[in-house]
Amino acid sequence: MIRSCIGIGVEIMNVFNIADDEDIRNGLASDVYFERTIAAIGERCRDLRVAMEATVSGPLDTWINFTGLDEVVKLLEGKDVDLYAIPEGTILYPRDANGMPVPFIRVEGRYCDFGAYETAILGFICQASGISTKASKVRLAAGNLPFFSFGIRRMHPAISPMIDRSAYIGGADGVSGVLGAKLIGHEPVGTMPHALSIMLGDEDAWRLTLENTKNGQKSVLLIDTYMDEKFAAIKVAELFDRVDYIRLDTPSSRRGNFEALIREVRWELALRGRKDIKIMVSGGLDENTVKKLREAGAEAFGVGTSISSARPFDFAMDIVEVNGKPETKRGKMSGRKNVLRCSACHRVEVVPADIQEKKCVCGGEMKNLLVKYLSHGKRTFEYPKADEIRSRSLMELEFFRDQQ
Ligand SMILES: [Zn+2]
Repeated sequence: MIRSCIGIGVEIMNVFNIADDEDIRNGLASDVYFERTIAAIGERCRDLRVAMEATVSGPLDTWINFTGLDEVVKLLEGKDVDLYAIPEGTILYPRDANGMPVPFIRVEGRYCDFGAYETAILGFICQASGISTKASKVRLAAGNLPFFSFGIRRMHPAISPMIDRSAYIGGADGVSGVLGAKLIGHEPVGTMPHALSIMLGDEDAWRLTLENTKNGQKSVLLIDTYMDEKFAAIKVAELFDRVDYIRLDTPSSRRGNFEALIREVRWELALRGRKDIKIMVSGGLDENTVKKLREAGAEAFGVGTSISSARPFDFAMDIVEVNGKPETKRGKMSGRKNVLRCSACHRVEVVPADIQEKKCVCGGEMKNLLVKYLSHGKRTFEYPKADEIRSRSLMELEFFRDQQ
């Protein structure tokens, strides 16, 4: 049970303005009214067994790549609750074929054992799902070309691993953050900063970068610190026999027509027999600009703020059952539910929880997407690694290629 101190006597011990693991586990990163409610109900709370479901209230006009569940599992592990959820990296619309809200998570147990975690549970999935969904949209826009998550600098450093993990699962090919990369089990991706050119001058900075590019890594030279992109590209082509990418991080004040600029650089390099030098672009990109710049000839993308600060999905958590009886508030659907999806046409239907499968209108098989992650607080299987979840997500994305 969460300690009923309602913050009394709690000192802020963290150096930075964050809630650490312990604070979150102690319910201190929660809205106070949950804890007050539990304290007010007192002993009676122990007899109140509920089922709560998390559904999306907005935005409803886009599909969602569901992530953030890993932290929900970690938070609820060891509590006497059952946790059912749609696996991370599953992509679907927040409403089913009949307009019913899709429950992504269901928690069953005594309200006093988990009610105060509502804020944290929602925070985990709202933000991570927003980031991975945006990353998936950029993935579609980039086609088979590589794109990297470069956006942690625009968000609080404490959440950088979560941002990078979500971006990677959504479809990024790599992440720039040191901890984020560790979390997904890969080497972080980095090019060279403008600072290197400013301190050493372009030529020395480029040489140093090439010398320090390890075997197996791609060499990337940032060319727009001082010079015009076209003439800098030509200079790189003349100076070096082997460069994988030149990177254009052109400031917005110089951008004019970025696509035309890329076409121009592309042309001048090709004319000099250097089609081998590819163009990487970064700076203020999102799925729309990535698509346009790809068409103009860019072949790799560093995407930052649009992913790291992606709009969160507004998940809400509601009680749908009290002591075995369907109960909920106005505007919500009572009773525990399952989410069936057709393996052939991907039609989704929300059904009462006693239905595990049914025939789809297309003749295909509809199976329950909700998986039991915790049974009385114990994990029912080993949680999949980020790579496995990302593979699932990329496979799911194929169904949404034409539905951006
Ligand atoms: Zn079907």
